[in-house]
Order: sequence, then C-alpha cells, then structure tokens
Amino acid sequence: MSGATGHALAIERLSKRYGSFTAVADVSLAVGQGEFLTLLGPSGSGKTTILMCIAGFVAPSEGAIRLDGRDITALPPERRDFGMVFQGYALFPHMTVAENVAFPLRVRKLGAAEREAKVRAALDLVQLSAFGDRLPRQLSGGQQQRVALARALVFEPALLLLDEPLSALDKKLRAELQDELKALHRRIGRTFVNVTHDQEEALSLSDRVAILNHGKLIQQGAPAELYERPATRFVADFLGKSNFLHGTVREVFAGGFAIGAGSTRVVTAAADSPPLGSQVLLSLRPEKMALLAEGETAENSVTGIIESWSYLGAGYALNVAVPDFGTLRITLSTWNAPIAPREGLALRLGWSAAASVPVLDDAP
Ligand code: ATP
Repeated sequence: MSGATGHALAIERLSKRYGSFTAVADVSLAVGQGEFLTLLGPSGSGKTTILMCIAGFVAPSEGAIRLDGRDITALPPERRDFGMVFQGYALFPHMTVAENVAFPLRVRKLGAAEREAKVRAALDLVQLSAFGDRLPRQLSGGQQQRVALARALVFEPALLLLDEPLSALDKKLRAELQDELKALHRRIGRTFVNVTHDQEEALSLSDRVAILNHGKLIQQGAPAELYERPATRFVADFLGKSNFLHGTVREVFAGGFAIGAGSTRVVTAAADSPPLGSQVLLSLRPEKMALLAEGETAENSVTGIIESWSYLGAGYALNVAVPDFGTLRITLSTWNAPIAPREGLALRLGWSAAASVPVLDDAP
C-alpha cells in the first residue's frame, strides 16, 4: 500500500460527561505520525469513549481533537475518513471477502479497475489473497478479523482506530494476530490508536501506552518505561504483578534512598528522594528477585520461607513469607532455577536497588 504515511493526532483536555457522570476527565494525549498508541485500562475507564470522540461518534463535553494541527472536533465521522475495526463492527455476511473489502471504495465511488487493484493490495497485506471469493462464514474468526482490517485499511485512511479487535479470539490466535498487526503497522507506517484491557497485548503491540482509570489518564509512556518505572500502585498492578513494600525513609543519598520496615532495610534508586521520615511504597516485580547462594550478596536481600509454589511451564511462582513485608511473590525461570521448590524451604532473595521502584499509593 502506497501513499502518505501516518498523521499526527492530538487530544486536548478532552472531557465527556453523561449527566452528572464523568466518563472522561480532562485527558490530553499526543499521538505522533506513524505511532501505535494503545489506550489501556479496566472496564469502564473511558477508553472506548475517547476512541469514539476521535472517530466522531461521540461529541466531547469539553476539549478538542486535532489532526495534523487542524481542529476536527466538530467534523462528522464520515468526513474524518478514519479506518475502524471495532467489536461488533462486523463483516457483511452476504458479501464475499473481496466485496466486503471493496465496500469503502464503492462508497467513495472509485472506478472498478482501481477498486480491484486496491482490494488485491489490501488482501495481500493481511495475507488473504486466496480468500477473495469466500463468504465471511467460510472463514475462521482470525481470518474474519483480518478481512475487517483489510476493509479498514483499503482506502488508506489517515488514522486506524481499533477497539479490542482481537478480544473475541482464542489465546493462541490472538498472539498470532498481535504479531501480524504489529508487522502490518511497521510495514505501512500509519498512525494506529488501539483500545484494550489486555495488558500483555498493550505492552507487546504499542510504541506507547496510555493508562486510564475512572476516566483519568494516569500515566503514559513506552511499554518498558511503564512496566519498569510505574508512577503509581495502580499502574504497577495493572501492568502485571508486583509486590508492594511499605516503609519509612531512613537514609537519603545521591541517586537514591533507603527505607526501613521493622529491622529490614531496602535501598532504592531514585532521582528525587522523599523527605526523611516520610512513608513510601516501593513496587518490586516478582521476576526482579533472584535466589542468593550461600555467601552471595546483593544490594537488597531478605530471608524467607516458601509458603506455597506453583509450576508455570516457563518457570515457578513462589510465595515466600519474609519478616516485615509479609508474603512476597517471586518468579524463577525453570531452566536456571537452582532449587526444586517445596513448602517450608528457607531461602535468601536478593534484588538490585533499581528493581525496587517508589510508587505513589493510589489504592482506593
Ligand atoms: P470497556 O472496556 O468495558 O469497554 P471502557 O473503558 O471502554 O470500558 P467506556 O465504554 O468508555 O469504558 O465507558 C466509560 C464510562 O462511561 C462507563 O462507566 C460507561 O458506563 C459510561 N458511559 C459510556 N457511554 C455512556 C452513555 N451513552 N450514557 C451514559 N454513560 C455512558
């Protein structure tokens, strides 16, 4: 598919209220040209409402939507010319795959020859060239989703909007289509805005993720940045599993600080340190801890006892009771796990200062 690359989108101070209920509260987001942005949040966090405001199906209560700097807030959806793959935005069952994909081109009154060439290119793009004559019911769920993608891309839209496009598929197929969607995005270089409540999907697909809760933007950033440096407890929790360590700031030094909880001291790396004596919360990912051998040291270490464990295929998850922090969850990969886990086994856990990340406690 040729033509211009992606367009830049800006969402400025967007709010949407339904009566006294606020579905979206003062959200600002910039999506760069050719970027893949995912809106991620629990059910009811306002993701779809934001996407519908971008698409033009929902009118914002306040704020503006801009495309390449141009205010399109009042533009009707059909004049925005965005590609869309929504849940329930189904294929036409009585039309063949090729007719489905050609539909947006018919609406735009393209001639037959041009239509045919573009349909062929779009079906190539989603690797369904051989399926043009089939009806949707003769395709698998994953193939139908790919036809929907081809139909959304065939008219070379300025922006592609995706609302949980893979959520109806089983886990394995979803993972395959995620890879395809990512590759497709790379290939065509257009701007994608995706909505999901699946954190793995958000992390693996996106250039940038915006995390929403109760209609508010909580944090945005590159996937690794969000996972490694969550700003709040909610973000740490929503993007995978984490342990939370409560303590009092006991020492402050260049590049970090130490907290104390009972007789345990934990050091953390941080650009800005909170005041001595303040209460802080640290997030510590289960895979950031390692078992320490006899005599081995680490920036942080605790001794604990395995309360329970489970086998995960790729590794083990252990629940380890440690003094002062309760139970910590730790994951070990099976190939280098130096132990066979069993309940009651005592072990030492170590982790780096950089692995314990101070987070704002925004738990309700
Ligand atoms: P999900 O993942 O379940 O689709 P979401 O994050 O996409 O959730 P939205 O669909 O944007 O959430 O809804 C945000 C909030 O706004 C919800 O509490 C919803 O009930 C409410 N809401 C959405 N549309 C309307 C409407 N037309 N009238 C009243 N309330 C609405």
